[in-house]
Amino acid sequence: MAGIIDRQKGIVIQSPNISTLNGLPLRELFEKEFGLPVVVENDANTYAYGEKWVGAGKDLDNFVLLTLGTGLGGGIIYHGDLFEGPVEIGHMTIVPSGRYCTCGSYGCLESYASGRAIVDRVISSLEKGAESMLTERCNGNFYKVTSKLIYETALDGDSLSREVFREAGHFLGIGIANLINILGLEAVIIGGGLIGAWDMFVSELEKEALRRAFKPLSTNLKILKSSLEENAGSIGAAGLLLKKIQSGTGDLA
Ligand SMILES: [Zn+2]
Repeated sequence: MAGIIDRQKGIVIQSPNISTLNGLPLRELFEKEFGLPVVVENDANTYAYGEKWVGAGKDLDNFVLLTLGTGLGGGIIYHGDLFEGPVEIGHMTIVPSGRYCTCGSYGCLESYASGRAIVDRVISSLEKGAESMLTERCNGNFYKVTSKLIYETALDGDSLSREVFREAGHFLGIGIANLINILGLEAVIIGGGLIGAWDMFVSELEKEALRRAFKPLSTNLKILKSSLEENAGSIGAAGLLLKKIQSGTGDLA
């Protein structure tokens, strides 16, 4: 599930979307209901583990997986295994005194590189009178704009739509340079709902990441697309459960 969890106790500590889940003993409830062993893990972590187990990261020992969807999440594979920490990559500061973020801070990466960020950026430009094919396609109702519509309009050559994807790529590149410098990665794997728009942002992302990262750390770095896509999270969750059972800690109490 999304958010911060206590994997030892199987408890939700903080859910970003459904606050009534905070403090819920999720594992205990599920084990009681279904009579089966259960693991509780953050969704971006299971996505990362899925890619490590059978996906694009199978032959890699150190990589970061970014889930570029409505928001921006991330999981870390370090020394060949899941880094079991609470990781909030989307909330690293990218722009000091930047846009307000739902987490309460300012200038977080997620506020510049995510589906929500792209839509917000387009709406604010349209409200200021920017010219775009989008105005007609949303019948003048800017709040109907979605990231899918922006992508389709970008494919038709609309300059505002293309620009917002390039901009998201630029900020993602800055975030990735920071990750490279901290973790010494072999690769960054990108998944999530926005990877359909890969060609719209990836060259700007690569350019910015390589320009900023420490050279010896980035020379052999690969930027890869998720190979399991929307199935990665559930495959990874299954993999984590198998691991738990094989290690002998998956028996029901
Ligand atoms: Zn934030």
